[in-house]
Order: sequence, then C-alpha cells, then structure tokens
Amino acid sequence: MRIQSLFIPSRSAVFVALAWCLCFTMQLAAQAQSAPPAAKPTADRPWMNKSLTPERRAALLIRAMTLDEKLTMMHGAAPCVESWTPKCLLPVKGYGGYVLPNPRLGIPHLTLADGRAGVGYKATEVTLLPAPIAVASSWDVDLMNQFGRVLGKEEWDKGTNVTLAPTIDVVRVPEWGRIFETYGEDPYLNGQMAAAEIRGIQSQGSIANANMYLTMNQESDRFHTDSVVDERTLEEIYLPPYAAAVQEGHVGSFMCAYVKLNGIYSCENAQILRTFLRDELKFDGWVMSDWGATHSTVNSALNGFDQQQPDSEFYGDALKKAVESGQVSIAAIDEHVRHILVPMFRQGLFDKVQPGAWTSNARSPQHDAFSRFAAEQGTVLLRNEGALLPLPANASITVIGEPGGKAPKAEGGGSSEVVAPYTVSPFDGIRKRAGSQAKVSYADGSDLGAAAEAARQADVAIVFVQTSETEGEDRPNLVLPSKQDALIAAVAAANPKTIVVLDTGGPVLMPWIAQVAGVLQAWYSGQEDGNAIAALLFGDVNPSARLPLTFPRTAEAIPTATREQWPGVGGHSTYSEKLNVGYRWYDSTGADPLFPFGFGLSYTTFQVSHLAVSAPTAQSKVTVRLDVTNTGHRAGAEVVEVYVGHPPANGEPPHQLRAFAKVDLKPGETKPVTLTLEPRSFSTFDTTAHRWTIQPGTYQILAGTSSRDLPLNSTITIAPAK
Ligand code: BGC
Repeated sequence: MRIQSLFIPSRSAVFVALAWCLCFTMQLAAQAQSAPPAAKPTADRPWMNKSLTPERRAALLIRAMTLDEKLTMMHGAAPCVESWTPKCLLPVKGYGGYVLPNPRLGIPHLTLADGRAGVGYKATEVTLLPAPIAVASSWDVDLMNQFGRVLGKEEWDKGTNVTLAPTIDVVRVPEWGRIFETYGEDPYLNGQMAAAEIRGIQSQGSIANANMYLTMNQESDRFHTDSVVDERTLEEIYLPPYAAAVQEGHVGSFMCAYVKLNGIYSCENAQILRTFLRDELKFDGWVMSDWGATHSTVNSALNGFDQQQPDSEFYGDALKKAVESGQVSIAAIDEHVRHILVPMFRQGLFDKVQPGAWTSNARSPQHDAFSRFAAEQGTVLLRNEGALLPLPANASITVIGEPGGKAPKAEGGGSSEVVAPYTVSPFDGIRKRAGSQAKVSYADGSDLGAAAEAARQADVAIVFVQTSETEGEDRPNLVLPSKQDALIAAVAAANPKTIVVLDTGGPVLMPWIAQVAGVLQAWYSGQEDGNAIAALLFGDVNPSARLPLTFPRTAEAIPTATREQWPGVGGHSTYSEKLNVGYRWYDSTGADPLFPFGFGLSYTTFQVSHLAVSAPTAQSKVTVRLDVTNTGHRAGAEVVEVYVGHPPANGEPPHQLRAFAKVDLKPGETKPVTLTLEPRSFSTFDTTAHRWTIQPGTYQILAGTSSRDLPLNSTITIAPAK
C-alpha cells in the first residue's frame, strides 16, 4: 500500500394526496424492514441459510415468490404518472430510488443514492470529496480504493444499500459536461480505478453501480442521441472499464444509459445487455435504468433489462399484463429477479442490520482529512517556470479571481451534487497557511485594471479560474468562460510571476500559457479546496498527480472536431475516430497536445532506467522491470507508465497504456518497479470471429512518465500459434 489507511472501516391535488397516502404506507413498510432480519433459516425461509451460495439462496427464494412479489423487485417505487420529474415522489425520505421490501419473505428494501463525490440527493452531514477525475489523477489505485471506502461508509451510514457510483465511461469528447464524474480517457486506467473504487464501496456494505452503460459520452440531446460505434471500438475502448468492474471489482449492479447504441436504446439493447454483459463479461448482477431511460416493456424484458428506475411505468402493471398474455415468460422474470437477488445475498443484505438512516450524521474528522488528502494527491502541476513553486514562507501574494478566490468551484453540477458541510476558499486557505510571515491580499478580478495593479504590488499573483460543468449540458467549447482568459492575460502582463489555478472538470484552452509561470490543475477539489491548494503552493505537499486526459492546444486539434462526431447530426453521433480516442488520436495524427495524457510535474525530478522485459510466457504474459530514481532534493512520487505498441499490421493506435505504478521516493533514492503485462495488452478484437486474439509479431514495450515521454523501450516477439 502506498498510503496509510486514514480511517478504520467498521464500519403533483389528487395525485399529491394519493402519493402521500402511498408514501405513508410505504414508510411503515420501510420501518418494519428496519427490524433485524431472521438470524437463522427456518423451514419456511430456507434461503436464510448463510452457508448456501448466493445463487442457491436466490433460487430457493424465487421458488417461494408470487408473480406480484417478483415484479415488485423489478421497478422503483416512485409513483410516477408521466415522466420521472418532477412528479415522482419517493416513498421514503431521502434517496433517489427505492425498491419496496417484502416483509412476508424477509426481502430487504433497496435504498439508492447517488455518490460520485459524496452522498447526493441533498443529504446533509456528509463529506464533499474531490471529483472522481481528481482522484483518478493521482494514478493511485490505493487512494481510489480509500475514496470508495469513505464514500461507501457514508452511504451505508445514511441507510443506502445501493450506491450509484462509479461513473466509468471513457471520456471521448473534451466538452462533455460530466467529465468530472469520470476517470478520464484511457480504458485501462478507468478499469483499474473502477475496480478499486467498487471494491472500496462494497467493502462498507452497499452494492456499487457501474454506470452509465454504454457509450454515454455527451450530454447534448442525451435522452435520444444515437452513438454510432463499430464493434471493435466498442470492445477495445468502451467495454474494458466495465469488464474490469465485473471481473476485478465484482460489482453488483449496472446502470444502462440514456443514449442509443447503433439505433437501439441502451436499456433494451440485447447486444450490450446480453452479448457483452452476460455472454462475454459473465456479469451475474442486475442492470437498472438511468432515471427515465426505460422505453418499453416487452422489448426490455426480453432483451436483458432487469429493473426500471425510479418508477414502474413499463415494469409495473404493463409487465404483469405482458406476462399474463404470454409475451414475457415466467422464466424470463425469474432470470431478472435472480440478477437482483444474487448480489443482494452476496453483499449480505439479507443477513445484517443496517443501522443508518437518511438523517444520520455520516461525517467524521477522518473523512474531512481524507477529502483534503485526496485533493492534494489529485492536483496536477502543469507548469512551473523557474521553479517559482513552491512559494517561500515570506512571499507577498495576491489572490485574484471572481469568484474563484473567495468562492471556489469545489464540485460539478447535476445528480451528483453534494451539500458541502463547508468549503475552504483559496483565499482563506492561503491566508491560514501563510500565517503572519507572508502578506496575502485579494482582488476579485471583476476590474482588470485593479487586478493588474494588485499583481504589480505583490511578489506573486495567483489567479483562480473556473468552469461550471454539469450533467445535462456540454460546454459549448473549451474556452474559459466570462473573460477569465483576459483576466489572466492582464495579470500576467503586470507580473510574470503569475500562477493560474484551474478549477475545471475537464480540459480548457490556455492561450496565455507562455505568459504565466505556473499552472495547477485542481479540478473540482471538494470541501477542503483552499487548504489543499495552499499545502501544494507552499510545498507542504509535493505534487504527484498526472493527467488522466489530454489537454488540447487548439479548439480544432481534438479527436472529435467534426459535428458528425459531436454533438452529432440528425440525432447520430458518429464515432468515426474509432480506436483513436484521447491520446491515441494525438499520437496517430501527430497532433501536438498542450499537455499530454499521463503528464504532471513535481517539485523534484525523476529518472527511469534499466528496462528489462521478459520473453512472453506460454499464456502471453510479460514481466517488465525498470528502476526509478528521485534525482532531486525533495521527497516525491513518480508514476511509472508502461505502454504497448502493436505491430503495424494489427491496426492499433501507436501505443496504449497497459500498466502503471506510483512510487514514493526519498531524494536520491532508486526503487525497482516490476509490472506484469497481461495477455489483453497484446490482444486485438477480431470482428470476424467475434473474439479477442493475439497476432504473432513484434511488440514494442515503452516505459516512461507520460504518453509523450517514453525514453525506455524494448521489444518482445510473439510467435505464431502452433
Ligand atoms: C443521472 C444518473 C443518476 C440518476 C439518479 C440521472 O439524471 O444520469 O447518473 O444516477 O439521475 O439521480
């Protein structure tokens, strides 16, 4: 483990009236369920025998269930008459989704809540964590696991037993409004992070939810847009994070997305719900819809869709009629219910009491500390000319930014919003850290002349700028909004010792880059924003994060620059870039990114050396060894990145991330790093045979510290199969 564990896990008038009556009845049912479940199996409840497998227990229970009881499990209990907003009222306080309990059979209710950067749905007494994109920037799977544990613990303490996280889609469009909820643009990195966060969440009691499946890559026209994607691209780019969520994270549930894939809505698409999910990935949990993403009854039920959320429009009476008319078989219903029950048994939901309620306090000093730690670990140092940073203790500093300096952008918008218990502003964080030694002033930035004058008076000017990224909207472009570029330019012209801190969820253009001395990519860093940024600015913490996505140099030089690609034409978004997503496109086209994938600076320097690569084993596994040295004068951490280049005949992007490790090093220290390349590192998806294959040939193994800084290389040869 790279870090110490920071906490100890133990751890609408008639309609409204009708709805509230229903609500009261359901509340009673929910309260009844809070009684401890039967501790021992009885003759009439053999599924309570904990020594049986989850599959066996589910089979025994399904045998005892009536059709109505089965159907109750297949939809949310929010009484909706039309669409899901705003008339859907949930039967219990809090939560974003609810599935009724079954007191007759002892089936617990399901309580669902969002949780990308903390517990959502206006919950109070919860911690606002940094956005997942920040935590992914740490390239530290242990940190991501801790993030999942903190989130999972707070969800569980709030009475949630299904946590709607993580969002693991590969970022394709740099303007996408939900980048901050994700882990970035690489399928392998996303998969590693997904598995780590899922294991963390599920270790605390609740069932995690891999979302938003599949090809949910834009907000523009998100309820209807059709992602047009070829099979190989789906298999090689968009599915791998989900494969890791299942195979390495053992995730209990999936959320199917709003979008269509190749003309068919995700929640009734047999290719993604059956072929990919069941046949290929062997997923045995359940698939719920995104809120309002269900579009049919029979089609959905026959094509592999298990549970409508948050209401019952298609899976309530309509599904019962479809069963009674013979359009949907009982066997099909049983299969869906089994998908829901197996993870419930596996996760122990039948066997333990969940003490928490929506009104419980889930916060703790440890979680506040973790939020700060994660923000420090996730902030990427992108530029540091003349080693301006870290700042000396006695620096005279002006903090500039309207509203960034005093009102930080600590989180993204939409269903993932968290009610922050507090937010430390950069101005307060810097003043507190600086103490009496440094002089700290503030200019709000609304008056460029005044901001420039403040910058002139200080040794160092720190400009805080931001974007307002949110679910439901893509950014129109990558330009910093509200004349913030002009503010930076004015300040930098007045004082070359200008540092820009970017509170953005995704990449922005930096037309002023050559004029500023420093840039920190802080993302949306949560409640401890100002404290974390101050610790980095003054060098209490040495930056060690690396970009999980490419920052483009110009608006034109991006992988999805045509309207056909994004936001789409005639309702179709065409994935014509195919495998060339993110850095793969920059490398294939020779485009020059502003900051490449995997890049980040430190206050010390590192060197990688002595690459040694084993011959492939019979199973095509390869061991990669190299040394990494801290060649500077401060302790720090480097991320060692290993990429594989396929033989040209394979038609793959130039090189792709296949392994990485984060290494802590004292000044002068060298550590050996050993990494394993799995057979998948050398595989391509054969669309004729519809399977993964390894082609013979010479493969390049490249190692270094970013996708564009790979000084070490070697080759391996894979012989033709005998
Ligand atoms: C979002 C999901 C979220 C759901 C429930 C939808 O609008 O797309 O990510 O889990 O709402 O809040």
